[in-house]
Amino acid sequence: MSQMHYCQNCDDPIPMKPAVTEDGRQVARCTQCGNDVPAKRLPLFVVAGASASGKTAITQPLIDALPECAVFDVDWLIDPLGRMCLPDPMDWAGFRDAWLAVAHGLAQGGRSTVLLCPFVPEQLDELPLREWVGDTHFAALDCNDDVRRARLEARPAWRERNIEQHLEFAAELRKRLDTVVSTDEGTPEEAAASVARWVRSHLR
Ligand SMILES: [Zn+2]
Repeated sequence: MSQMHYCQNCDDPIPMKPAVTEDGRQVARCTQCGNDVPAKRLPLFVVAGASASGKTAITQPLIDALPECAVFDVDWLIDPLGRMCLPDPMDWAGFRDAWLAVAHGLAQGGRSTVLLCPFVPEQLDELPLREWVGDTHFAALDCNDDVRRARLEARPAWRERNIEQHLEFAAELRKRLDTVVSTDEGTPEEAAASVARWVRSHLR
């Protein structure tokens, strides 16, 4: 069980819980002595896409379009966290929890986090650190099946191309998520601008 905050006043390592003070400040509160420390929870944005949805292409345009947020491609932690798990396979729940810890850290400076990733809602809801971020908002980055097939087939040979599985996951995201941003046509900058508008509609 991972935890975010431990009380620095108590002699034992007491895990702190999220709480809100009477004057409305979000804090971490010691369950033993009642000590509070600041612990803001801001909305977390998940731009979920199956392989070849255009996540890599929109990463930099989205970083540029949302300077008030922190935008990450979750793949950036695959190698270092995968190495920590060796010789076992990646602990994917731990991997997702690490991203919640990053989002919580950034929230302390007032920045919401946007993750480009293949996560679905229940994969975050079940995590130990879920309570340390605010509301989560999901959008699907999508393309039609023909475009996805062509993009996957154009990839270098060293990349896996389990095409049917990716088409199936894309169909699931499309069905489940209310906000869908298509990358079939238009530039990555235009898709990034759509995602940025969606993020800002929830930050107002
Ligand atoms: Zn305490």
